[in-house]
Amino acid sequence: MAIASRIQKRVLASFAAAAAAKLPEAAVAAAGGAAEAVEEVASSAQEQVQAQGAQVLEFGDTERLFAGERSTSLVRTLAVLQALSVGPLVDVATAALRSPAVAGSAAGRAAARATAYQHFCAGETAEEAAAAVRRLWRGGMGGILDYGIEDAEDGPACDRNAAGFLAAIDVAAALPPGSASVCIKITALCPVALLEKASDLLRWQQKHPATKLPWKVHGFPVLCVSSPLYLTAAEPPALEAEEERELEMAHGRLLAIGERCAEYDIPLLVDAEYATVQPAIDYFTFAGALAFNGGGRPIVHGTVQAYLRDARDRLEAMARAAQGERVCLALKLVRGAYLAREARLAASLGVPSPVHRSIQDTHDCYNGCAAFLLDRVRRGAAAVTLATHNVESGQLAAARALELGIGGGGDRGLQFAQLMGMADGLSLGLRNAGFQVSKYLPYGPVEQIIPYLIRRAEENRGLLSSSSFDRQLLRKELVRRFKAAMLGRE
Ligand SMILES: Cc1cc2nc3c(=O)[nH]c(=O)nc-3n(C[C@H](O)[C@H](O)[C@H](O)COP(=O)(O)OP(=O)(O)OC[C@H]3O[C@@H](n4cnc5c(N)ncnc54)[C@H](O)[C@@H]3O)c2cc1C
Repeated sequence: MAIASRIQKRVLASFAAAAAAKLPEAAVAAAGGAAEAVEEVASSAQEQVQAQGAQVLEFGDTERLFAGERSTSLVRTLAVLQALSVGPLVDVATAALRSPAVAGSAAGRAAARATAYQHFCAGETAEEAAAAVRRLWRGGMGGILDYGIEDAEDGPACDRNAAGFLAAIDVAAALPPGSASVCIKITALCPVALLEKASDLLRWQQKHPATKLPWKVHGFPVLCVSSPLYLTAAEPPALEAEEERELEMAHGRLLAIGERCAEYDIPLLVDAEYATVQPAIDYFTFAGALAFNGGGRPIVHGTVQAYLRDARDRLEAMARAAQGERVCLALKLVRGAYLAREARLAASLGVPSPVHRSIQDTHDCYNGCAAFLLDRVRRGAAAVTLATHNVESGQLAAARALELGIGGGGDRGLQFAQLMGMADGLSLGLRNAGFQVSKYLPYGPVEQIIPYLIRRAEENRGLLSSSSFDRQLLRKELVRRFKAAMLGRE
């Protein structure tokens, strides 16, 4: 640990300076003296991972891992991840981004664009994001176009967002077949207040099955016996006629998006969000799944958050329902990103958080759900996107997939996914092992993406954040390249 932080300080200083001057060789030269120690740190991290799961993914040979990646790009990535690991720096940067005075100013936006935005985002327009997909595709990976918009408050905002999603699908359709998917947020297609009301009513119906919801269309179950229902303590008012119309319009937006995806065979990934709206999100998603997943390749993919205590029970209920309806169960599996929000809400109501009590329980739930889904993929009953930066989960799932004989050679039932700018080592290791891998590519004007950038900065904050494994791999490869260049010159 002491060695690691000493090295990190020295390497950070020299790499950040070199990145600014676009002189990777100088950066690598400065790190040269630390080569052996860095290798020691990287290999001990690798040993830890190896001890925990079967070895399908190879991270030791960084030359093979990063083959095709330019040194300038590795140095830039390392410099950004290293800067984000410095807690006080992240605190200042996120406070600045949260301040309307800074985020609203041209200088503030320019600073964000030149740093975190460049690292985590694929550009301002769908065309720029498409160029990123082409680059990834040449390197053996795909891209998931993520038009970065946050919650919509009213119908006109939802219509604008739907038009943005349709434009993303049109752009994806012009890309090489199989290279691109599109992801959407239901909170961008239906006013959030209405999603909250519909979720309340769905929870009430779970408690009181006789409750009639005239607007409800057929779908999979969105809640189960272990789902927390405390958010709906008393009977909620029924939807007004105007609200029912608004809900129908949101449904229409989703159907139009699903139809466009079905026309071009583009997978549509629906993000999961937070407890107050998630039942309604699942309700919409499953109605879409029933409409579009009956044919050959499923189109509409929902999301399960494994950090929720009811995740496994709900997953099993969804699988039974999909089997009964004879449609493919198409899901993205994530750990979940709204931990603090869920904990705050539960605490304000004086109830336990819906999230697993320990991080280990979340890991176990994630790995268990992944194994459950892989088994269904093998039987041709499911399509799954394992969205994770966790190396152990990646290793375990990859080993299980190979055991089951799925995932390799363009098998479309399984893909892994990581966010752009994160866990590149894992993405490349999975790609090298023959799996389909896609990067989530958020795009949109800088001011629209700021909440997303703040979330990424916070996720990478701290020396022991999820990026530490990547930083170790990057340092090891840069040192190797430096040594190779030095020997080559002698
Ligand atoms: C391609 C992609 C798509 C995604 N889509 C969504 C989405 O639709 N909805 C969504 O909510 N998130 C989504 N995420 C984010 C995801 O949920 C995680 O926030 C993120 O990926 C970190 O989890 P990990 O699997 O990478 O694991 P790790 O890197 O191991 O991260 C673990 C993290 O889990 C959190 N955690 C979970 N449970 C606990 C607990 N009980 N106690 C303490 N900490 C806990 C902690 O913050 C911890 O840092 C997506 C991620 C990716 C890569």
